Amino acid sequence: MVKKDLFDAFDGFSQNLMLTLADVEAMKKQVQALVEENARLRLENTKLRQYFEEVEKGKTRTSKETRDTLLGIYQDGFHVCKDFYGQRRDNDGDCLWCDEQLERA
Ligand SMILES: [Zn+2]
Repeated sequence: MVKKDLFDAFDGFSQNLMLTLADVEAMKKQVQALVEENARLRLENTKLRQYFEEVEKGKTRTSKETRDTLLGIYQDGFHVCKDFYGQRRDNDGDCLWCDEQLERA
């Protein structure tokens, strides 16, 4: 291999490394966003479990914070009803059980 070919090969290798580094940085940001979302969802999950426990114990009144959390999750496109809790609502369509749950909250 002549010197020019060798340097061309290094340039190509260097370019690939730069592109790979950019990909890794982008993936790192995506993972960070997912970790943050996961933490938020775990927090909401805890609140919702508390809410369902209160409902099962027959308590009809819940805190405004819990009600707001439920409504926020519903508006984000997820079920808040007990049967489908946490699952994505198809095409953000209405769910009668969720509506009932939100009315009771
Ligand atoms: Zn539902």
